[in-house]
Amino acid sequence: EKGCRKEKNQNIQVFVRLRPLNQRERDIKSLGVVEVQNGREVVVRQSQQNMHTKRFTFDRAFPPLATQVEVYQEVVSPLIEEVLAGYNCTVFAYGQTGTGKTHTMVGEAVSDELTWQTDPLAGIIPRALSQLFDELRISNTEYTVRVSYLELYNEELFDLLSTTEDNSKLRIYEDVTRKGANIVNGLEEITVYNKNEVFKIMAQGQERKRVASTLMNAQSSRSHTVFTIVVHMKENSPEGEELVKIGKLNLVDLAGSENISKAGSDKRERARECVNINQSLLTLGRVITALVERHPHIPYRESKLTRILQESLGGRTKTSIIATVSPGHKDLEETMSTLEYANRAKNI
Ligand code: ADP
Ligand code: MG
Repeated sequence: EKGCRKEKNQNIQVFVRLRPLNQRERDIKSLGVVEVQNGREVVVRQSQQNMHTKRFTFDRAFPPLATQVEVYQEVVSPLIEEVLAGYNCTVFAYGQTGTGKTHTMVGEAVSDELTWQTDPLAGIIPRALSQLFDELRISNTEYTVRVSYLELYNEELFDLLSTTEDNSKLRIYEDVTRKGANIVNGLEEITVYNKNEVFKIMAQGQERKRVASTLMNAQSSRSHTVFTIVVHMKENSPEGEELVKIGKLNLVDLAGSENISKAGSDKRERARECVNINQSLLTLGRVITALVERHPHIPYRESKLTRILQESLGGRTKTSIIATVSPGHKDLEETMSTLEYANRAKNI
């Protein structure tokens, strides 16, 4: 116990992923001003003369050539063991729009039923489900795997795996049976029997997301999506006792971080969206800071996102943040603000 307390708090890990310069940036001969060094450091050149550089250190930093597999292995694979041991884990992708949050979480190539499992561009969600099924299959456990996929837009909830069109029933309630837990009432939890079904679920989620955003005339950069995998496990101990464990993995693709800083717009509706988006992103930042600094009061209740994730943040849980950044000169300001946000989330 004593030794434990002295150790660095390992509950929050912070990673940075730097995307490559894209074609458009290369066409205009844009300069890369961000670099990853020594696998852990991110160096930002803030002026042309290389005079002002700022250096940040994280648990791990991924250079532009890092593959989906490498990111998965480093960030998520260790969490699968925790989930199978009955813990709650959460992975956030945080960053400016266009820096690779969805590329990291979902990937590009979950569009082909036959090849998604081996596709090098598949992201965290399909890989996590795939690894879970592989490990459960060889274990001595009776298990059920359920998934849900929700979108939070304008502080309103949408069920991306719903089999009906009616979203009006989605409400967040306090779970009276478990302290500090909330339930999204009406959210469908789909039982997944094997990993061949993963493709179908991803495809349905992406399609619903497209339809929902058209219906709401929504800008997808302003929405958060939460993909949750819940694993119920039942084992018999050598003494013949029945052991029940429940593990959970939340995979969260956050709204673009530029929505935090860019307030104000001419249309009232847009302004309202900004305020609400700020609410969930800002509150998440405050919750993480409060956890890292061990404040007695954690402001979970101040946004829907943090209410939904309340029982998975803090306590005996693991949280990982992947901050995604652009290398480009014109994104410098947003890159600095993302790195500073990520830096604040680190354990002291
Ligand atoms: P976000 O979800 O943060 O808005 P996306 O994931 O949609 O950003 O990425 C924007 C574009 O950049 C996409 O076309 C994506 O394929 C590409 N991209 C992002 N990260 C990488 C990366 N690490 N390697 C290659 N392409 C990337
Ligand atoms: Mg995206």
